[in-house]
Amino acid sequence: MPGEVLFVGAGPGDPELITLKGLRALQQADLVVYAGSLVNPALLEECHKNCEIHDSAPLNLDQVLDLLIAGAKAGQKVVRLHTGDPGLYGAIQEQMEALDAAEISYRVIPGVTATFAAAASLKQELTLPGVSQTLVLTRLAGRTPVPDSEALRNIARIGGTICLYLSVGMMDKLVEELLAGGVFTPQTPVAVVYRASWPDEKVVEGTLSDIAEKVAEAGITRQALILVGEVLKARQQGVPEKSKLYDPGFAHGYRDSAK
Ligand code: SAH
Repeated sequence: MPGEVLFVGAGPGDPELITLKGLRALQQADLVVYAGSLVNPALLEECHKNCEIHDSAPLNLDQVLDLLIAGAKAGQKVVRLHTGDPGLYGAIQEQMEALDAAEISYRVIPGVTATFAAAASLKQELTLPGVSQTLVLTRLAGRTPVPDSEALRNIARIGGTICLYLSVGMMDKLVEELLAGGVFTPQTPVAVVYRASWPDEKVVEGTLSDIAEKVAEAGITRQALILVGEVLKARQQGVPEKSKLYDPGFAHGYRDSAK
């Protein structure tokens, strides 16, 4: 019987932020291939002592696939451990396609993506009534291009709350693009969270006018998430409107109106 491959989200760094399902998969795995750059090695201590463990950082796609496919064909329980959630900048589609071609079954176990770890570190809600009800997860183009229609200046026309992955090394360009959308201003608040949920986490806060300089001063060039939007003002200025959900005058399916 060939084994199954499980794509598991490791979460953002804190080893307690993996799901129970993901943890069980790791504990039962015979072969683990993990993304070394951002997966916390502490998670690998959960593997049993005969588990074979490989870091995928120095491997190319074919080498990763060879490991996954050979392991599954040998009947091993295989875990492909990705940082955050595997479905976001995880390059899992091509791996799943290759497993389909090799007729190997697989499942995906989701994880806590960096955005939610960063919001938790900041103690910041990302959607606030009267401020923003939309969250965009995006990036600037790097070696991987971004389709023109999704260029950051076009996304920035929506306003709302924007979380940027893989972009902290291009802060000047990021600020320029966000301002070019015509909705954000030099006063729009920005928070940058480096290694959210890790012991060496760093938070830098500012506005579009000074955040690039502050990030440079802090020496942050990678492994950071950038949050942009008016919601970030709430911690200083309070919420402009309370949510309808807990409003005593607002009845819904699970509660009658108090009025
Ligand atoms: N699948 C991952 C994202 C992988 S892309 C997820 O869902 O989180 C790698 C990028 O994610 C990094 O360059 C950084 O922008 C962001 N990232 C991942 N972990 C992070 C963390 N703990 N803190 C801040 N940013 C993080």
